[in-house]
Amino acid sequence: MNATGMSALVRHARRDSLVVLCYHRVLPDVQREASPFRDLVVTPEAFEAQVALCAKHYKCLTLRDAMTMLHSGGSHGPLLAITFDDGYWDNYEYAYRVLDAYDAKATFFVVTSLIGSSRQLWYDQLARTTDYLADQHMRPRDWLLGQNDTLVRWLAAQKISTNVRPGRDLVQQVKTISPDMRNTLMDAIAARASKVGYRDKGMDTLMTANQLRDLAEDGHEVASHTCTHPILTQLSDKDLEQEVCKSKADLERIIRGDVVSIAYPNGDFNDTVVRAVREAGYQNAVTTMNGLNTNTSQRLSLDRVFISQDRLSNSAGRCATNVMQMELNGTADLLFLRKMRAHRST
Ligand SMILES: [Zn+2]
Repeated sequence: MNATGMSALVRHARRDSLVVLCYHRVLPDVQREASPFRDLVVTPEAFEAQVALCAKHYKCLTLRDAMTMLHSGGSHGPLLAITFDDGYWDNYEYAYRVLDAYDAKATFFVVTSLIGSSRQLWYDQLARTTDYLADQHMRPRDWLLGQNDTLVRWLAAQKISTNVRPGRDLVQQVKTISPDMRNTLMDAIAARASKVGYRDKGMDTLMTANQLRDLAEDGHEVASHTCTHPILTQLSDKDLEQEVCKSKADLERIIRGDVVSIAYPNGDFNDTVVRAVREAGYQNAVTTMNGLNTNTSQRLSLDRVFISQDRLSNSAGRCATNVMQMELNGTADLLFLRKMRAHRST
């Protein structure tokens, strides 16, 4: 292919597809650098550059409205849905005004048990406390002083890096253990961190009910990310039903409207999870598998495109528009043969 052909391919927005972007947090650079999950954060400046590019080439709709249009049978042009997982406060503080400036609508997947609460999501708490202990030069074997042997043995077997910020790696490993063991481990680590001076700075809270209502009244979509962000494939049928049904009902009470979309925590789903989501009345569900969607895609296992600020920046730190367009139209997947790649997520 010659240079002109490549350039046209890069710029081409596929008319038959729906691109669903996956964001988590929008924070100024200082807070981004301090985050244990830096790759899940974009700065307001990067977010604005990305939204500007999307708004130029696509109709930027909520997932709900984009799916309706995709299945309308009519001619709709290239569609794009911006989505945010978890429901952090910064979505309202920093992303909302950028979306507004470009008349773009987005979908916010919220963990409902923490709406308006000062508590953190479990992985934020675990990562922040273990990073703090590492900053205090405490090694993993010191984190669980006085705890039961099972926990100590499990942690020792994880080969946690003693470098700065081990929290992120530990979170990935903790996802595989039972919720009970995870809670015991987290309580023990939190108690240890508190004893040596750790204090939560309140950086990881979620949006309030009033903020969610504002977003919904402004045409954005407020959607479910379950009640407590469990790995849904690990749950009993009863707990699975509770997570998908109660989160939907709680949000519907808050926004005084229907909730029709859900994002699977950590992207994990199976046939049982899909059935529970369908029976609860959801019409759309997103995964963390990388790719584009068409009107033949399964509505309860939609692909997304994970947005990484670093991957989409040029050497000057600005939004690399060609790279972003390649991500949006699937050219990057073709070039790098990564159609089936699942990006990591929380
Ligand atoms: Zn999440």
